Amino acid sequence: MKINILISACLAGKLTRYDGKANKIDNDFFKKISVKYNIFSFCPEIAGGLGIPRSPCEIVKGLDTDNIYKRYIIKDKNNNDISDFFIKGALLSLEYAKKRNIKFAILKEGSPSCGVSYIYDGSFSGRKIKGKGVTAYLFEKNGILCFNEKDCEKIESLLQV
Ligand code: SF4
Repeated sequence: MKINILISACLAGKLTRYDGKANKIDNDFFKKISVKYNIFSFCPEIAGGLGIPRSPCEIVKGLDTDNIYKRYIIKDKNNNDISDFFIKGALLSLEYAKKRNIKFAILKEGSPSCGVSYIYDGSFSGRKIKGKGVTAYLFEKNGILCFNEKDCEKIESLLQV
């Protein structure tokens, strides 16, 4: 039986990015996994109620706690606190993944929702720091293994694509 994999919607060609564009993933790799696995695409930010286009957003700070409501403060470039949209989107993403028995996700690196190993530092200056987006954090806390779109080799060897 094919296993289910969740992928960031923008990596699956959906125009869900803040600027109305998609993001890139290696085409051959995507075709290979699409044949072998059931691919489900999901965008936490759209699910959480944000529109397209939308102002770029970054995680500005938060507390070192497992409580997702306190861990993340997310603002858009106009300094509006939009944390609630991100948290709602992350919770809905987890619900979506659990319903489909998803144990494995490929997420867009750097995003305040989907970033797996880095995010932007909250200054809107392009500086990257180690960290996870809200959805990636929640996924990993709930046993869903997350990779970014550049981890093709790791994913291939793990899943034997
Ligand atoms: Fe892509 Fe995730 Fe951003 Fe949605 S929230 S556009 S899926 S990176």
